[in-house]
Amino acid sequence: MATPVVPATPLVPTTPASPATKPTFVMPDLKPCSHPIQGPCIDAFNHEILIKVGKEGKEVRIYEGLLTYHSSYFAAALSGSFIEGQTKVIELKEDEVEVFSAFHCWIYTGRLHPSRESPLSRDAYKAPTSSERNDLYLLLAKIFVFGDMRGIPALKNEAIDILHQLYTCTWTDFHLSAVKYIYKNTTATSQLRQFVAHANVIGLRDLKSFHETTSTAWPIAYVFDVLQLVAMKDRSGAWPKLTGNRMHWAKLDRCQFHDHSGPGGALRKTPAIG
Ligand SMILES: [Zn+2]
Repeated sequence: MATPVVPATPLVPTTPASPATKPTFVMPDLKPCSHPIQGPCIDAFNHEILIKVGKEGKEVRIYEGLLTYHSSYFAAALSGSFIEGQTKVIELKEDEVEVFSAFHCWIYTGRLHPSRESPLSRDAYKAPTSSERNDLYLLLAKIFVFGDMRGIPALKNEAIDILHQLYTCTWTDFHLSAVKYIYKNTTATSQLRQFVAHANVIGLRDLKSFHETTSTAWPIAYVFDVLQLVAMKDRSGAWPKLTGNRMHWAKLDRCQFHDHSGPGGALRKTPAIG
């Protein structure tokens, strides 16, 4: 798991997460996603291919039909045009085993972690320590980026939902290293960028507080995203409607940060098994 390279710097001072195992805030019942992705048909569970992950070459086997149903990237890689389509072996040397393990768990179970007690699970939440929380923010951002690069919209949506749950329950801003990672590895239209900017704006009292607490190390694109959100709130008269309103944020429609382009995403050119 990656370690922040710079000290965490929230936009405004926030209450540190309790080290207690029980969360102090319980998520309300939320409206389910308006465009849930259906699973593939039984034919997708055909034969397994081998994936070697990370520099250590950890070997993972996944049904080819399941993989190509959810991912346009793997569907293209396993087509006859590439050597992987012949050997049925894919090497992902640059990927982190922890990130791929979350994807591997998700593609079979719909969850990012096998344990329902894990903070990566939406079923049974345990409040992490502040150190764990920062690492989890970064891990979830990496899972989103993995889904983005491999054409897996449903994985991105799961990462957004768990980030929303984790942020709401700990009520602590995304730290500098997570923001820097996100803005380095996503495009200007990324739903993850929008989510993080929206979340961190909630903690602001006004622009003066942003100026006082901001770091010169923030990505400039992030600063513009925050300023744009503040300006939008000013024009609508809603600012600072969301400030400190935890339940309001908890009940937000997460679909505004989802990718509803379906299995394989917008890059899908041919129908997958399903
Ligand atoms: Zn949705």
